[in-house]
Amino acid sequence: MAPVAAKPKLALYWAASCGGCEVAVLDTNEKILDIAAHFDIVLWPVATDHKYAGVKALDDGEIDVCLFNGAIRNSEQREMAEVLRKKSKVLVAFGSCACFGGIPGLANLFAREAILERVFDTTPSTQNPEKTRPQTRWAAPEGELELPTFYNAVYRLDDIVPVDYYLPGCAPPPSLVLKAVTAIISGQLPPPGSVLAPEKALCASCPRTKEEKKIKGFNRVHLVAADPKKCFLEQGIICCGPATRDGCEARCIAANMPCRGCFGPAPEVIDQGAKLLGAIATLVDSNDPAEIRRALAGVADPAGTFYRFGVPSSLLRVARCAAPGAPGKEAMAK
Ligand code: SF4
Ligand code: SF4
Ligand code: SF4
Repeated sequence: MAPVAAKPKLALYWAASCGGCEVAVLDTNEKILDIAAHFDIVLWPVATDHKYAGVKALDDGEIDVCLFNGAIRNSEQREMAEVLRKKSKVLVAFGSCACFGGIPGLANLFAREAILERVFDTTPSTQNPEKTRPQTRWAAPEGELELPTFYNAVYRLDDIVPVDYYLPGCAPPPSLVLKAVTAIISGQLPPPGSVLAPEKALCASCPRTKEEKKIKGFNRVHLVAADPKKCFLEQGIICCGPATRDGCEARCIAANMPCRGCFGPAPEVIDQGAKLLGAIATLVDSNDPAEIRRALAGVADPAGTFYRFGVPSSLLRVARCAAPGAPGKEAMAK
């Protein structure tokens, strides 16, 4: 009898993640059975009971593909990123948190101590008069307990280890997940470093009409009845489409909600927020600085609006997060 060919090995991991990217894999519905049939899953913390020790015992490069979701905020996540990089032939930054820092990356707008103070001292439901903080080591009667170190900032996966492919989205849509898995199975992946999503901005495939209209100010989407056929921006509602990569089939737009930018920067865009700021600046119908200021005052939470999914990959990230290779990266565990 011919020997049974070994199936390719697949690992799925979540770091600083909400779990939505895991659900995106399950959202492939019955196709998940094809994925499970084609691969030997060696790690999937949300669904299986594999142990880190088992992964560490694998040979280097023994895992064929690793889909890594979530950003890096602590030493355990960094260690697993390094282990999975070493053990995997192909490492995919899966979802916006792994690609750009994502929603957890908004924490880079605050210093670590301010976050700890808020969480452990000043939330309304907290009583902590001794200002106790989590310790990385604790001598319990049963033995020494260890907690990961909480880093100074949130990092993208490729700040920590080299990444082969990027699959953006919060979460990546099942159609793109399946396309990526099919390309992996058939060995028809694009060149390493590619983003596994279309090379155009969302506006290029948005079905809404644009009339090159100027506007006098901005409104939040829940405060107006948006016309479902017209461009959000031309209705004075911030939409990140001009600065955001296509690939989601305009799913928010179809639900009459503006794009919030989860697919990250459009091709050739260095800084998603700066690009969006440029796009909306050309829309304001005024040359009067005071009038322009009044119009822009309608943009609630500008940092959160322009950089909702990408503070760690923006030009701003240097405020809280050292660039790769820059002094300070080594200090992140301190
Ligand atoms: S990309 Fe979105 S869905 Fe995926 S882990 Fe991050 S926040 Fe959750
Ligand atoms: S700005 Fe938004 S609504 Fe307007 S065309 Fe682009 S994606 Fe569509
Ligand atoms: S419309 Fe924008 S925010 Fe919504 S899924 Fe697409 S890229 Fe993400």
